[in-house]
Parts: sequence; structure tokens; C-alpha cells
Amino acid sequence: MHDRIPRRGWLGGAAAAVAAAAARGGRPAAGGKPDLLTADFPPEPDPPPLPITDTHVHFWDLAKFRLPWLAGEPLLNRDYLWEDYLRATEGLNVVRAIYMEVDVDPSQQEEEAAEVVARCRRGDSILQAAVISGRPGSERFAQTMRRFAAMPEVKGVRQVLHGAATPRGYCLQAEFVRDVALLGELGLSFDLCLRPGELGDGARLARECPGTTFILDHCGNPEVFASDLELWKAGLGAIARHPHVYCKVSGIVASTRGRRWMPQDLAPIVDRVFAEFGPDRVIFGGDWPVCTLGAPLGAWVGALREVVRNRPLPDQRKLFHENAAVAYRLR
Ligand SMILES: [Zn+2]
Repeated sequence: MHDRIPRRGWLGGAAAAVAAAAARGGRPAAGGKPDLLTADFPPEPDPPPLPITDTHVHFWDLAKFRLPWLAGEPLLNRDYLWEDYLRATEGLNVVRAIYMEVDVDPSQQEEEAAEVVARCRRGDSILQAAVISGRPGSERFAQTMRRFAAMPEVKGVRQVLHGAATPRGYCLQAEFVRDVALLGELGLSFDLCLRPGELGDGARLARECPGTTFILDHCGNPEVFASDLELWKAGLGAIARHPHVYCKVSGIVASTRGRRWMPQDLAPIVDRVFAEFGPDRVIFGGDWPVCTLGAPLGAWVGALREVVRNRPLPDQRKLFHENAAVAYRLR
């Protein structure tokens, strides 16, 4: 009987085995005859996979928070709790996690931040820090951010800018730029989530705010199966020229939405990100549960391990674990 492709599709057959083995840190089993010289000995256990700092974890309890954008995402429109995330990461060696704001109704932003800070402070899990939601340029932004910046668990701020409702050039308005510069003065970073055609706006914002650390989410949002990546490549090059911008290797599997894909489908994007940002400015983000639109978290991690497996081991460690501590100032 043939393996059935899962309803929403992700990896098929051999690719899934490769990805699963890579997720464990091991090699896929080689075909062919058993090695008679070692047949009497137990197989060597797989080495533990490289540790992961997941810089982009979402979870939400719809009894507490309203997420208006979920109305357009029926597959994600239910509770996703921290405990569900822990189940999704079993065996992946995720040792640190950073909460990423979930674009709640703006009236609930402070409540969302306060709740996740309290959860971090319990100290009973790998959840260490948070990037909270905010609206640079809004009236109470400076006051609110001064308060949250005093909390060591809060590392940065994000406002998603890639939705259809955000006009072009939004992040270049004077009040927006002023408040993003303020974040740098407060020791906070800003996560940039832009449409690929507007990465040039992000580059200009970075130039205007030299004291703020930026993290470009989701590789700049290219689509894995896009017919033309030239606009994205040009924008990526423009923003990567600014040394205070990091690139988060995240999000891209969600763009495959129902199409079957293989690790090598991700490689052109990941390789381009490495070429532009270099090994010291790339950081891994799982983007669970949004990644499940394209694959389970374990398959995404396994595929990325496969894509970077020929890079020097120290560079792999930087991508999955070490650069995050620099970009987000983790302890
Ligand atoms: Zn996300």
C-alpha cells in the first residue's frame, strides 16, 4: 500500500524520514546490508540534537483573548496552549523559548503582555522572555513601553505590518519612526514583519533608527513556491546591509499551505538569507502553531537541520541557539 499524503500535505515518504532523522540529530538509515563487524554490538545511540532557542512561539487561549485575524484562518481558530507547544516540541531539544505576541485586539495588548511576563516569572519552564505587542506612533506608546521595559522578561516589541490592512509606507511615518527609535533607547528590539515588496521600507526604518536592534521575521516573508523571488531578494539585500538587523529563519513553511514540499524547496530561501546576513545574524524561530499550516513543528525543524547540515557545526549552533541570546539579550 502506498503511503497516503496527509490531507493538508507536507513531506512525503523518504523526505519525511530524512527530516525525522535530522530532527533527532542523526542520519537517515543507509540502505544495504548490515555491517557484520558491528552486528554483535548494540547500535550507537543518536547524539542528542543541537539545542534550540525557539525565538517565535505563539500560544493563545480564546476564552481570554480576542484574535480578530483568526476569523480568516479556520485551521488555527481554536485554543493553542503552552502545554500543546510542549507536546509539539517533544524530542527536539528546545531549551529556551521566547513568546511572540499574537496580534490580539489592541484593547488587550497590555493584558497579553502582563500575562506572559507573569508566566515567564514563574521560572518553571523553558519560557524565558517575550516580544510584546505595541503600536508605535500611538498616543500611549511611550508611557506603556517605559513601564514594560523595566521588566527584564520583555525583550522587544512587534506590530505586524504585512497584513492587507496596513498601507505601504506605514512604518516610515514620523511618529512611528520616533517611537521605534525610543525602543532602542529603552533597550528593546523591534520585530519587523513586512510584505516582501516593502523590505526597502524596513531598510529605511533601520537607517533612521541606528540605536534599535531589528529582527526581520520570517526571512522577510517570501513564499516557498513563488514564481519570482527577485523583489524579495532585492529587499533582503537592502535591509541586510544594516548591521543592527537580524534575520529570523521562520515562517516560510506556512506559505506552502497544503502543497507537498521537501527540505530542498526551502534551501534557496535559507541559503539566500545566510548569504546576505552571514552566520552571526540569523536566528531560528519555530512560529508554532502557524507553521502547522505547512508542517508540524518537528518536520519544519528537521527540514531546516537538513538544509543547513553541510554548514560548519558552529554556524548551525549559532542559527538554532546562540545568536538568539545576542539579538534578544537573553541571560
Ligand atoms: Zn508568527
